[in-house]
Amino acid sequence: MKLFRYLNQSIGLTQATVVLLASVFIGLIFSTLYLSYNLSDQRRDAMTLTEEILTAAEGGATNAAWTLNANLATQVTNSMVALGNVQTAELLDDNGQILAKANAPQKQSNALITWFSSTFIGEQIRGERELTVTVGDKVQKVGSLSINLDVSHITNNFFILASTVFIAALIQAFSIALVLLWLSSRLVTSPLKRAAIAIANIDPKNPEAMTLPIPAKHEQNELGHLLKHANKMLSRLYITQEQLRNLATRDPLTNQPNRTLITDRLSRALKTAQRNNTLVAVLFMDLDRFKNINDSLGHDIGDILLIETASRLTKILRSNDSVGRLGGDEFLIILEDVHDIDEIVRTVQRISDALSDPYFLQGHEVLTSGSVGIAVYPDDGEDTSTLMRCADLAMYEAKGSTTRWHFFAEEMSDRVDARLKTEAALGHALERHEFLLHFQPKIATKDHSLAGCEALLRWRSDPQSLAAGDFIGIAEDSGIIVEIGAWVLEQACKQIRDWSTRYGDIPISINVSGRQLKEVDFVYQTLSTIRRYGINPSLIELEITETILIDALDESFNILKQLREAGITISIDDFGTGYSSLSYLTRLPVDTLKIDRSFVSGPQRSKAVLEMIVSMAKTLQLKTVAEGVETQGQRNWLTYEGCDYLQGYLFSRPIPAVEFEDLFLQQTSYLKSKAK
Ligand code: C2E
Ligand code: MG
Ligand code: MG
Repeated sequence: MKLFRYLNQSIGLTQATVVLLASVFIGLIFSTLYLSYNLSDQRRDAMTLTEEILTAAEGGATNAAWTLNANLATQVTNSMVALGNVQTAELLDDNGQILAKANAPQKQSNALITWFSSTFIGEQIRGERELTVTVGDKVQKVGSLSINLDVSHITNNFFILASTVFIAALIQAFSIALVLLWLSSRLVTSPLKRAAIAIANIDPKNPEAMTLPIPAKHEQNELGHLLKHANKMLSRLYITQEQLRNLATRDPLTNQPNRTLITDRLSRALKTAQRNNTLVAVLFMDLDRFKNINDSLGHDIGDILLIETASRLTKILRSNDSVGRLGGDEFLIILEDVHDIDEIVRTVQRISDALSDPYFLQGHEVLTSGSVGIAVYPDDGEDTSTLMRCADLAMYEAKGSTTRWHFFAEEMSDRVDARLKTEAALGHALERHEFLLHFQPKIATKDHSLAGCEALLRWRSDPQSLAAGDFIGIAEDSGIIVEIGAWVLEQACKQIRDWSTRYGDIPISINVSGRQLKEVDFVYQTLSTIRRYGINPSLIELEITETILIDALDESFNILKQLREAGITISIDDFGTGYSSLSYLTRLPVDTLKIDRSFVSGPQRSKAVLEMIVSMAKTLQLKTVAEGVETQGQRNWLTYEGCDYLQGYLFSRPIPAVEFEDLFLQQTSYLKSKAK
C-alpha cells in the first residue's frame, strides 16, 4: 500500500514501474516461446541422431543376428554405448531373445532436471530398427536393434540457454525502465515540479505579478501550452480583481478613492511620517452652496461639478498627495511629506483659488468655493479617526471665517493669520518707507580700529520696530526680499558715499539672501547700483550664508566670480553651520569667513573648532570675522586665536547711522575706551 502511495506521487516512477512490469511480462512470454521452439528443435536433432546411430550400426548388428554371433552382437552394442550419447543399446534375434545388451553408467542429475526432462522431453529418446536380410527375392527378418538416447545434455544446454535468455530479458526491461525514468524526469517531472512551485508562489492578491515561467525548449509542447494558458488565466484573474478592487475602493462618479481607500492611504501616510519625522496635513473640504446648485440646476450638473472639482484638486496636488471623495460634496485631501505649516497654507490657498474659479457646466456659469478644515499630524492627533474628526470640526469653523479655511488648533490659525498679515504688510513697507538700516561696527583685532560695519535691516512696523530675524524668512518666502535687497544695497551705497565725503572710506557689509542670487540679473543690478553712486566696489562686502552657497554651489561659483572680478568683497556668513565638507572653500571665490555666533558664545563654543577654522582660513588666505562677541573674555580669547576682526554687542548693538557716526566716526575715544 505504502509503495502504491509513494508511486502515486511521481508520474515518472509510476510510468517506469508500469514499463518495467510490462517489459518483464512481455520478455517472459517471448523468451518462453523462443525456448519451447528451441526445445522442440533439439528433440528433432536427437531423433535424427538416433536414426543415424542405428543406421551406422545396422550392418554389424544384422550380421550378428543372422549368424547368432553373440560376441559380434556384444561388440556392436558396446560400440554404440561408447559413443557417449547412448544410454542403452539392445540387440534381439528374430525370436525376440536378447543377443546382447549394453548400458552406459547412470549419470547423477538433480531432481529439477529429471522432472523437466521426463515432463517435456521424455526420459529417454528411443530408436528401433528391424534387421533384415534378402535371400533370393525374399526379405527375411533376422532380429532388431534398439537404443535409448541419453537426454541429460539436452536438458543441461536448455537450462543454460533459458537462464541466459531470462536474465537478458530482465536486464533489458530494467534498462528500458531506467532510461524512461531519466527521460521523463528531465522532460516532464522536473519542469512540472518547477511549474508547481511557481504556481504555489502566486500571490492571490496580485496574480499578474507572478507570471509562470515557460521552461526553455518547452514553448511548443503540451507543458508550454498548459503554462501559456495558465498565464492567460492569471492575467484575466488580475483584470477581474482590479475591476473588483476598483468597485470596492473608488468613488464611481469621480473615480477618486472612496472613504475606505483614502482612510487606508491616510494610515499609511501616518506611518511614513512617523518614520521620517515629517508632518501630514488632513484637509476636510466641502463645496459651498452645493445643495443650492444641485437643487436649482439639477443633479446632472451637480454630478459634473463634483467631477470637475475632483479633477481641479488632482491637478493642483503633488504626486505624493491624495484626494478622495467621502460622499456628497465632501472631499478628503492628504498632504504628505510636509515640513512646515507654510507649505500647508500655500497648498490650501491654491485649492481655494482653484475652486473659486468659475465653472462652465453645460452652458451654465457656476460660482462656488471650498471650505477647508485642516488637522495636522502629530499636533492634532496621531490616528486616522482623530485627525479626520478634527479636520471635520475645523471645516465648520472655516465656513464662518473670511479665508474659508481653518486649522483645528486655534493657535495655528492665529500664527498663520499673523504671518499672512506680516506678509501683506511687508508688501507695503517699502512704499511706506518703513525700512531703515542699522549699523554694527567691525573691529580689527590687531589695532582695535574700526574696520567697517554690517548693515542690518530694521522695520518700523506698527506697533513696534522689528529686527531682521523676525521677518526676513517671510520676505524670502513671499519673494519680496528681492526688492528689499535692492533697496538695502542702494541705502548702503548712499551711506558709503555720504560718509566718504565726511569721514573717509568706511566699508559696509550687506546680507544677501538666496532668493536674490537666483535672480538672473543680480550681478548686473548690483554692479550698476554701485556704479550709479560712483563708489569704490571694494567698500561693499556681500555676506552670503554658508547653507545658501552649498545648496547651489555651481551657480554661486559663477556669480561670485563675476562680482569679485568687479572688485566686490565676498564673505561667507554663519560659517560652520553648514556641516558640509569644506573642500568647496578652495574652489569658491571668497575673501572672508564670518564665524557663526554659536562657536563664539553659544553652547557649541569649541576651542578646537575655532582653532581649526582660523588656521584653515590662514592657509587659504581668507580673513576671519568672529560674530556675536559679547564679553571681554571672548574678545581676548578670539584675539589670541588669531581672528582678524570682531563684531558683537561688546562693541555695539546695531544702531542707526547717526548714532554710529557719533560713536565711531566723529570721536575715537569711545573705541579707545573699549580697547582697554
Ligand atoms: P547675520 O548676518 O548673521 O547678522 C547677525 C545677527 O546677529 C543680527 O541679527 C545681529 O543683530 C545679531 N547680533 C550681532 N551681534 C550680536 C551679539 O553680540 N549677540 C547676539 N545675541 N546677537 C548679535 P538681526 O539683525 O536680527 O539679523 C538676523 C539675520 O537676518 C542676519 O544674520 C542676516 O542673515 C539677516 N539679515 C539682516 N539684514 C538683512 C538684509 O538686509 N538682507 C538680508 N537678506 N538678510 C538680512
Ligand atoms: Mg550677516
Ligand atoms: Mg551671521
